[in-house]
Amino acid sequence: MKALVFHGPKDIRYEDFPDPGLSSPHHAIIEVSHCSICGSDLHLYHGDTVGPMDFSLPQPQFCVGHETIGKVVEVGKSVKNLQVGDRLLVAGGAGCGLCKFCKAGDLRRCTSDRPAMVYGFSPHMNGGQADYLEVFAADNAAMKIPDTVSDEQALLMTDAAATGHFGLVGSRFEPGDSVAVIGQGPVGLMAAEVAVAMGASRVFTIDPIKARRDLSRGFGATPLHPDEARNVILQETGGVGVDRVVEAVGRPETITQTIRLVRPGGGVGIVGVVLDGDWGGVPFLRRAQGKSVSVMAGIANVLDSWPTLMGLFESGRIKGDGMFTHSFDLKDGADAYSLFDERADGVVKIMIKP
Ligand SMILES: [Zn+2]
Ligand SMILES: [Zn+2]
Repeated sequence: MKALVFHGPKDIRYEDFPDPGLSSPHHAIIEVSHCSICGSDLHLYHGDTVGPMDFSLPQPQFCVGHETIGKVVEVGKSVKNLQVGDRLLVAGGAGCGLCKFCKAGDLRRCTSDRPAMVYGFSPHMNGGQADYLEVFAADNAAMKIPDTVSDEQALLMTDAAATGHFGLVGSRFEPGDSVAVIGQGPVGLMAAEVAVAMGASRVFTIDPIKARRDLSRGFGATPLHPDEARNVILQETGGVGVDRVVEAVGRPETITQTIRLVRPGGGVGIVGVVLDGDWGGVPFLRRAQGKSVSVMAGIANVLDSWPTLMGLFESGRIKGDGMFTHSFDLKDGADAYSLFDERADGVVKIMIKP
């Protein structure tokens, strides 16, 4: 098959790669119909260190990408709920599917000793920016896509929408709350759109890029440039700050800003991926304690969000409109990465088609 293969920082190549086979009876193979690039793929692209992996060093080759949908072409013997031909959306990561935590739907607590849990970051779990993908624990960490949900919406549910929803839930959001979302990439946009749909009283969206701010205006948010955000939010909230803040950037300055925007006793959900070295730049917990703010920082268990998101997408309460600004053929994947990395041409999210 053809795939986008990681060769090193800023070096992703479209080339031949061995077809995936079934390495477990619990897995399945899909023919990929659409995939997308996530902001966290850029950490790999930049040669950053993510968990135990230092991507500036030479790596055994692997296919990249963890946001994938496609059609089932083969199922392992133990897969019960899927059939060849099903249209499938694949969670960005998967556990073993067999331990008690995986069975209960929390992949993050998987007790297996699997060396990788997310697609497309190591040869242990090849990614889906490829013609075919081996779907791990397919009964457990993938879902059939209803006809009422578009390809774009299904792709958003593999990660971005689920992560945005997770940030909102993590901030202890309740209907009627006022919310600020820092960062209007796909995750932040989805957090804001979900907040509006779930009954937020006000949603402020903060991003330096005007095109991204304008997208959020479309579903009823109040877009703000970072330079004006604090003044406007304090003014609009009687000087106290918003009830909830979702952080979808992962930089020291934006994490620190969460505490400056949230009201005393409010809640913060941090879902931007923070690089190891950057946590030291956050004089954060002292301020959080001073305001009695509850803080959640985490990586989404994508499956948790699917029932809510599926209902919101199917009913049209959220749409994810305007998110996919660009579409590339798989063979031009290197160009897609470079455009996404440079934030050129008003890019928000890129769809790739094999
Ligand atoms: Zn992602
Ligand atoms: Zn498990």
